[in-house]
Parts: sequence; structure tokens; C-alpha cells
Amino acid sequence: REKLVEVKNIKKYFPIKGGFLKRTVAHVKAVDDITFDVYKGETLGIVGESGSGKSTLGRMILRLLDSTEGEIRFDGQEITNISQRKMRNLRKEMQTIFQDPYASLNPRMSVGEIIEEPMVVQKLMSKNEREKRVINLLETVGLNESARNKYPHEFSGGQRQRIGIARALSTRPKLIIGDEPVSALDVSVQSQVLNLMEDLQDEYGLTYIFIAHDLSVVKHISDRVAVMYLGKLAEIAPKESIYKKPLHPYTQALISAVPTTNVEEEKERVVLEGDLPSPSNPPSGCPFHTRCPEAHERCKIERPQLTNMGGGHYVACHLYTEPEPKIAENAEQD
Ligand code: SF4
Ligand code: MG
Repeated sequence: REKLVEVKNIKKYFPIKGGFLKRTVAHVKAVDDITFDVYKGETLGIVGESGSGKSTLGRMILRLLDSTEGEIRFDGQEITNISQRKMRNLRKEMQTIFQDPYASLNPRMSVGEIIEEPMVVQKLMSKNEREKRVINLLETVGLNESARNKYPHEFSGGQRQRIGIARALSTRPKLIIGDEPVSALDVSVQSQVLNLMEDLQDEYGLTYIFIAHDLSVVKHISDRVAVMYLGKLAEIAPKESIYKKPLHPYTQALISAVPTTNVEEEKERVVLEGDLPSPSNPPSGCPFHTRCPEAHERCKIERPQLTNMGGGHYVACHLYTEPEPKIAENAEQD
């Protein structure tokens, strides 16, 4: 399969200044050495609690935020260090849909202007052609042509998110990153917007990165799901695999919290103890060891690496990795 996005060992460390001289005294490791690919035409769901680094990761892929280290490729091109000027040409190929359809649409602009804006910024087409495209896009997202001359406040949350989607589509992007695009909407409206996004994906061959804070929202729409914890990838796998057989204890806890209607699927609820530790002072070894019901001595010392379990299923957990050879030798001597 062809890759649209390749993320290699990407890191984002935010400095914490302190003391009289305002020197950097520590770093918040918002994203700490993450590697994954996104294939053309798929939807990758990225799930994590707030503070897991999922939004930071999305913003680095869009180059709205520079990364501290690592490499990001978009459609085969290295974009980590290219200038903002060169990036401007690529902007039209990647768009975003924001969480809050109330805050993300400029209240002083008409809906027509809002949808047209990315095309104006990109200097795409003539004024006439852009207006035709706006009407076309409104229809595409299920809104009436008359919406063009109205203002955002005249629309419901779900309708506003449709406007946000039309705007994202305006430049004919290859990639759309949705940062919790349905979290602010009622559950009944959520599924309508998700269905629309799926239809548009098939129609335009779009690739989605769909960021969410829980696994239930991305269950329907994702082809693969990545789970983040404290700036690191805990697990990444095809959807069927991760929901049926989650391997990481953190994913298992998240999955057990997803409500189920199927009685036979009734599962034991795993409740996580304790709060998410601070990303400025993450636990040693496995970042999850302070809350993990399976934690053992090794987990406190050694950071587990993402390990290929076959079938595209990767997990970072010592339950699935061999101990370091040194430890194995010692064990033999016993
Ligand atoms: Fe739990 Fe250890 Fe696996 Fe981390 S490495 S998830 S602490 S068992
Ligand atoms: Mg799909």
C-alpha cells in the first residue's frame, strides 16, 4: 500500500523556563519518539487522554508546529524542515477540521466567505469559479445554497461542522486531519457527521487522521487505530484486531470502558487507578507503569519498544518482549 504520511522518530519537547535567569530547567516531552505511517485512502484514528500529545502530533504533521527531532514525509516529500514558503504550496493538500464548530468559524464572515477563504489564500481559480465551487461544496455537505449569505450563528452545531468540512474540502486536499471533529456535538448528530465524512472519503479518495479522546468515537470510522499515552505510542493496529484483542493493558482499560450493547461481549470493566502523570515529569521505564495492573520490576526501568506482533499489530509493552540478553544470561545461571 502507498503511504501518504510517514512519521519517523518524531519528538516535540517544550522547554520549561525557571529561576532568575529564565533558563530551561526541564522539558515537557509532549511527543516523545513516535513512528508510524498513514496509507493513502485510509482513516487512522489516534486516541489518547488530554496531555497524551495527540493534538501536538497532528499539528506537527500539518507543519503548524515545528518538531524538535525526527522526520515527517508527506506524499514522499520530506516536510519536516522545508521553509514555510515551500510549505504554502503544500497547504492546500492537507486540511484540518477543528473540534469546536462554534469557535473555529469566524462569526463576522458569511458562510460563503468562510468556505472560499482557503481558495483565496491559495490563489486558486477565478472569483467566478470559486463562487460556483462554494455552491457545489454546500450541496456536497448537505446544505442549501442559500446558506452562502448567512452567518455561522444561524446554524446548529452539526450544520456548522458541515460548513467546516466544506471549507476543508475547498482546496481538494489529499489529507484531512480532524482534531476531535465531533466531540462537541450531540451523539445523534455525531453519527450524521461521521457518515458524511465517510461518504466524502470514498468519493474523493481522502486520507483521514482522526484524533479523539476515546475509542468509541473512532470505532466506526477508523481502518487502523493508534493509542497514545504520555507522548508515546502504546499500540497501533487494524481496527478489528485492536477492538477484539487489545494487547496493551492501557488499551484494554480503554476498550473495557467502551459501552457495549452485545450481552455476549459483556466484559470485565478495567478501571484505571490514579491520574495521568505530568508529561513534564513522566515515569521512568514504561510511562504506564504507575497505573498498570500488570506492571513488574522491569517496567520501572526499561522503556518498552514498539514490537511487531504480526498482521500489522504493534504494541509497546514488556509482556510481549523478550528481556535484554544480559538479564536472560543471569537467569540461566540461577
Ligand atoms: Fe504495564 Fe509493564 Fe506493559 Fe508498561 S510494559 S504496559 S507497565 S506490563
Ligand atoms: Mg473509511
